[in-house]
Amino acid sequence: MELLDLLLPSGCALCGLSGPPICRNCENNFSARDFDIRRKTLSGFAATSYSEEAAKLIFEFKERGQTSLAKYFASLIAPRLTSLKQINAILVPVPSGKRTTATRGFQPAQVIARQLSKQCGLANFSAIKPVAEIADQAALTREQRATNVMHSMQASEAIRGKSVILVDDIVTTGATLNEAARAVTQAGGLPIFFVTFAETIRKIGNGFAN
Ligand SMILES: [Zn+2]
Repeated sequence: MELLDLLLPSGCALCGLSGPPICRNCENNFSARDFDIRRKTLSGFAATSYSEEAAKLIFEFKERGQTSLAKYFASLIAPRLTSLKQINAILVPVPSGKRTTATRGFQPAQVIARQLSKQCGLANFSAIKPVAEIADQAALTREQRATNVMHSMQASEAIRGKSVILVDDIVTTGATLNEAARAVTQAGGLPIFFVTFAETIRKIGNGFAN
């Protein structure tokens, strides 16, 4: 971790000024939103669309190891979860592939879920494990993504009977998210909602698909 610390940017992830991970000015200018989205049968919340700023923040967070940004991401999501506190749901991060995790050294969704748990008071449990290697989703079409992740996850039986809020850093087609929801259902849990920092509607071929 020490070497990683040396490589980290010393300033704000967006403007490079002030202290990391994000300065007050950029935080104030960042456009968050407050409406729900949907992927197949699962509804959820994304704090922002995949704007240039959001992409930059995700890059600093995931690829440059600026994990302290998770606290900021969580602060944009947490208000949406206060109404779900009464139903005693648990936060379950969507796992990354084993290879990606080995390269990065951390699981982005897990880091965000931990911060969310601190901020909204819901329990956090990394109940889903990858059971098959998943190829990088980024280069794949919507159909390929769905096939790529099919039955690639397994959830712990400990979530049986529990209402689950899935947590991820970014949602695109929702293929990974829906596989996570399937794994939760198979283990006897109830996926009720998902939350992510950013949502992107990716251009595929001649049209847009999400
Ligand atoms: Zn800044």
